[in-house]
Amino acid sequence: MIVGTVREIKNHEYRVGLTPESVHELTAHGHDVLVETGAGEGIGAHDALYEKAGARIVATAAEIFATAQMIVKVKEPQPAERAMLRPGQILYTYLHLAPDPDQTRDLIASRAVCIAYETVTDDHGGLPLLKPMSQVAGRMAIQAGATALEKAHGGRGVLLGGVPGVLPAKVAVIGGGVVGFNAAQMAAGLGADVTILDRSPEVLERLGMYFEARAKTRFSNRANLAECVADADLVIGAVLIPGAAAPKLVSADMLRTMKKGAVLVDVAIDQGGCFETSHATTHADPTYIVDGIVHYCVANMPGAVARTSTYALNNVTLPHALRIADLGWKAALRTDPHLLAGLNVCDGNVTYCAVAEALGLDY
Ligand code: NAD
Repeated sequence: MIVGTVREIKNHEYRVGLTPESVHELTAHGHDVLVETGAGEGIGAHDALYEKAGARIVATAAEIFATAQMIVKVKEPQPAERAMLRPGQILYTYLHLAPDPDQTRDLIASRAVCIAYETVTDDHGGLPLLKPMSQVAGRMAIQAGATALEKAHGGRGVLLGGVPGVLPAKVAVIGGGVVGFNAAQMAAGLGADVTILDRSPEVLERLGMYFEARAKTRFSNRANLAECVADADLVIGAVLIPGAAAPKLVSADMLRTMKKGAVLVDVAIDQGGCFETSHATTHADPTYIVDGIVHYCVANMPGAVARTSTYALNNVTLPHALRIADLGWKAALRTDPHLLAGLNVCDGNVTYCAVAEALGLDY
């Protein structure tokens, strides 16, 4: 199969669909790989590395869209890219179609085969191609929080791990799923005093067994939340109710009970945020202060560590890309229900129920 990857053109997107290492795997399987010149610059993967892995460097995205049978990307195709998609061409990338009727309409019109990373499933009912971005965001949340706690950034001047003879910072992590677990791991690793709140007994049990004495777990109810938030130097918002906006667990009133200069990192901001006072910010201007509390609410945290994120993403996307290239999309999807769950639009039809329902389309 001819597989192509293009330079991402969405604003401030530095990740790339295929690393040179992934290209190497594809070419070793006998596939031809086309890479747009400069596609990997954002992660320090120069054209020469791709050529060494067996790719052919191509001057324009248009040439790749015109030639490749499968396009591997990171972000949803932008209007100019959608216009270049061809009937029967495979598009393998994040799509997030439910809130995006314009994109959905264009993909239907293209009659391409559009497989969305975010709806591919696994045996445990998880979304394995989303997971690495939650791992990245969870780990970054502690870095971001540690920086915001510094005086120069409006924080209360507390070092997460303390030093011998001085107590460490108190970190409350609300939500103990993928983001929360990774945040707690980083915070505990730095020596902070960590409490994780969740309302799932199974999640709390799993966290308790993993962390033992290195982190405390508490059931997430109003009273426990209020106590932990008032006591914390750093609060991480990491809740998710699948398919719904994040619940506003920390109210503006609760904010007034916090210590001045404490920090909130609302990772759930991409679902609307779990603090009442949150609004989305950017990497260029990531924080703002309300009632003396520093808020960090960047909606695309993994974009800041594009290299790590690209490699983490490729680790989970490449096996499917290889199967699609080896078997063709029909056989690959027919033999793998988890990959089939990723099919969102095919030959002019929406094939994913939730997208069709969200947009009032036939399914
Ligand atoms: P997850 O499903 O793995 O974990 C969510 C956890 O929240 C679950 O354990 C659930 O039991 C818990 N929860 C639900 N309601 C709760 C409540 N009232 N109190 C306490 N816990 C509660 O989800 P995840 O992958 O960890 O993602 C968490 C959030 O982070 C999502 O909104 C996701 O979209 C977001 N996210 C943001 C970024 C970013 O760049 N900002 C990146 C990745 C993920």
